[in-house]
Amino acid sequence: MSKMLDTLHNVFGLQEFRPHQEAIIRRVSESGDAFVLMPTGGGKSLCYQLPALLRDGTAIVVSPLISLMKDQVDALLANGVRAAMYNSSLAPDEARAVMSALRAGTLDLLYVAPERLMAPGFADLLGDLEIALIAIDEAHCVSQWGHDFRPEYAALGELQARFPGVPRIALTATADPQTRADIVNVLGLQQAEMFVTSFDRPNIRYTVLEKHQPKQQLARFLASREGQSGIVYCLSRKRVEEVAEHLRWKGYPAEAYHAGLAAPVRSAVQERFINDETGIVVATVAFGMGIDKPNVRFVVHYDLPRHLEGYYQETGRAGRDGLPSEALLLYGAQDAGTARYQIEQGGNEEQRRVEGHKLNAMVGFAESLSCRRRVLLGYLGEDLREDCGNCDICLDPPNRFDGTLAARKLLSCIYRVRQSFGMKHVVDVLRGADNEQVRRHGHDRLSTYGIGTEYSSAEWMSFLRQLIHQGYVRQDIAAYSVLRLTPEAGPVLKGDQDLELAEPRLKAKPARKRSRA
Ligand code: ADP
Ligand code: ZN
Repeated sequence: MSKMLDTLHNVFGLQEFRPHQEAIIRRVSESGDAFVLMPTGGGKSLCYQLPALLRDGTAIVVSPLISLMKDQVDALLANGVRAAMYNSSLAPDEARAVMSALRAGTLDLLYVAPERLMAPGFADLLGDLEIALIAIDEAHCVSQWGHDFRPEYAALGELQARFPGVPRIALTATADPQTRADIVNVLGLQQAEMFVTSFDRPNIRYTVLEKHQPKQQLARFLASREGQSGIVYCLSRKRVEEVAEHLRWKGYPAEAYHAGLAAPVRSAVQERFINDETGIVVATVAFGMGIDKPNVRFVVHYDLPRHLEGYYQETGRAGRDGLPSEALLLYGAQDAGTARYQIEQGGNEEQRRVEGHKLNAMVGFAESLSCRRRVLLGYLGEDLREDCGNCDICLDPPNRFDGTLAARKLLSCIYRVRQSFGMKHVVDVLRGADNEQVRRHGHDRLSTYGIGTEYSSAEWMSFLRQLIHQGYVRQDIAAYSVLRLTPEAGPVLKGDQDLELAEPRLKAKPARKRSRA
């Protein structure tokens, strides 16, 4: 115990543990497996670095990116810890030096790329040495469901059999329940103790704006934030160039960053951003991994991201210093349509299903009429006790009305189509659409056919999403996102319970507004 604190103070120069760190370190030090879910910047590294010093032998840290390894090793060396890395970036003599240090037992920590670790010669060598623990950083890379699947991570499932008795600690900042389950299964961490830190970033204010004239919307947003540091994410390189150009023309200190630029150009942009010489970086998602800049005041998503995990990670780059920060999403229903089309064009059926479901969750967030933080954290598997008070919905709530009748129509329609169809079909049936799919299934003969002409499709879709958020309906991810009723739907269907819905704010089609006027 006091050894733990001593090491914290004397080696790492830190005053006290953050939530969970102490318990995690104790667990691993005592030879137990651990699974750590902690947001980026939460302090995951210490959870294996400190036990590495408390236990005999060398700790092996699996990490997917050479740049991340290098930063960590440099920081450890600066603290006087005997750390090294072993990957493809080393010159042959450097690699040899690392190997002989490893054999001599003079390394506290060794960072390795997953494919190196599992290579036969290397694993055999380790088998003869004393291993303090094995840490698997960025553990979500084992999951095909995750946004960063790496096939070489899948082989890490063999670690348990190869190194029996060596404690393993898996760490990730990606928390959605499916990814979590994959990590446990692939790595065989059923015996691991789970440590889940809250993913809430209370100082970040989430705002979604309906996207029209996005350049002007962005300029207006930036006008009141002069001199602040921020990132604007776009989906394509072309868009990045275009937006950066526009901002410079408007007089903002903006620079472009995307994978199409030469590596030295990219690192120069990153360097200037970190040193506060460039205020705004307009970038694709290639930007930001591993950047630990505390005073990023805003993150703007100019285009709709493909999934909420990515959105959470990207917005999470704002406000590391804990000061009030902004996350702005420009949401166009058209972006969602384009994304859906692209998903349907690519990949195999399984990938399309997974991607489609993720996109639905992202759209659900963008179109949410209840607290955005609740939706976001809910997706990450965390229940907020109350609304956050620091998102656009909480600060400027939409109008609510008695939605019992509308809800009952939706719920009974889902029931009538035998809980075997997705959102669009259910709404088509309600609105009495005359199309192939409706006719083929004989759904034009259902009692709920055409009983919902009082609302537009966009409005029904919004109501459906609200019923999903409120827990009356769920989308079955394992089966084409078909809609199923939850037990909570029963009392509403029977007329025993009323419920409120919010008037949709994000009209999918402005044309409808005109026809109404
Ligand atoms: P993660 O890997 O979870 O993204 P890091 O391990 O890189 O986070 O830690 C993020 C920052 O927090 C680092 O600058 C680290 O020094 C700091 N940190 C970690 N633990 C503590 C602590 N107990 N007290 C103060 N700072 C800490
Ligand atoms: Zn809120």
